[in-house]
Amino acid sequence: MTNKMLKFVKIGQQTPPKRKVGFRKQDFKEIYDEYINEKAEEQSSRCSQCGVPFCQVHCPLSNNIPDWLKLTAEGRLKEAYELSQSTNNMPEVCGRICPQDRLCEGNCVIEQSGHGTVTIGSVEKYITDNAWEQGWVKPIQVNQEKNQSVGIIGAGPAGLAAAEQLRKSGYKITVYDRYDRAGGLLIYGIPNFKLEKEIVERRTKLLKDGGIEFVQNFEVGKDATLDQLRKRHDAILIATGVYKAREVRLKGHDLDNIVFFLNHLQNKNFFHLRLLIFHLNQ
Ligand SMILES: Cc1cc2nc3c(=O)[nH]c(=O)nc-3n(C[C@H](O)[C@H](O)[C@H](O)COP(=O)(O)OP(=O)(O)OC[C@H]3O[C@@H](n4cnc5c(N)ncnc54)[C@H](O)[C@@H]3O)c2cc1C
Ligand code: SF4
Repeated sequence: MTNKMLKFVKIGQQTPPKRKVGFRKQDFKEIYDEYINEKAEEQSSRCSQCGVPFCQVHCPLSNNIPDWLKLTAEGRLKEAYELSQSTNNMPEVCGRICPQDRLCEGNCVIEQSGHGTVTIGSVEKYITDNAWEQGWVKPIQVNQEKNQSVGIIGAGPAGLAAAEQLRKSGYKITVYDRYDRAGGLLIYGIPNFKLEKEIVERRTKLLKDGGIEFVQNFEVGKDATLDQLRKRHDAILIATGVYKAREVRLKGHDLDNIVFFLNHLQNKNFFHLRLLIFHLNQ
């Protein structure tokens, strides 16, 4: 191991700075600014390169976190990005919205020993955003086209990730979604202050550039039946998400005029909610 790592004994934890409230109230865009390069390297160097990396063990994607932290600390940002994206179809999204406090960061050994976790999510976001800026993120290049086609119902993260993996294997892919934009709840659920729409749209465009076809405003069950789609494709993947609201077990939950917010998850509702919060803050 180089002497670049294990710096948690000397260097404190630092997250990227928050954008000023005045600006955030104007645009409701993401709360945190980006790391500058030196900070990303410095914060990555706090990692102790555990033999059994609990960050990776608790990552649902089993991301090779210690290795890309080390590469970042050494300034090898392209390799860090390549390693990070090798297990993750959209690391810039996970860097922004994953519940890191319960997964990698919450289980980081130096967090457990009271030194404050390595800021894994912010570094992941930094190295991927930097890769986009540098032009290192490229559309899929298919080596050998296959004749079979797969229809994917649902353009949420599950559908998009499956589309990418299957396209890389050479299948012809069509993604159907009932809404006008791809992204599922990344677009219609998660607000801009956590994940700006352009970040998702940039990913979708990359998939289109890699040959994946998107059919929007197309509801399976209304615009076509499942059987009709089955006849169009060799295989169908259903990735339609979970839209059944959960009951809250509270007294009065069955009173009149109590509605599930899930049924109102469209951005225009978030817009009204944001306006309401804004007025309450005045
Ligand atoms: C307000 C909110 C905040 C969240 N914040 C976070 C967070 O911070 N971190 C995090 O990790 N997760 C968060 N989530 C959860 C995350 O967004 C979901 O887990 C994720 O989007 C699920 O992906 P999915 O692809 O399975 O489904 P979805 O994103 O729901 O995508 C399913 C897609 O299928 C389409 N579809 C459904 N039925 C049909 C049909 N019949 N025909 C055609 N298309 C159809 C839908 O239009 C949709 O686009 C949040 C969710 C919400 C609602
Ligand atoms: S658990 Fe923390 S210190 Fe250990 S490898 Fe992962 S990020 Fe580094």
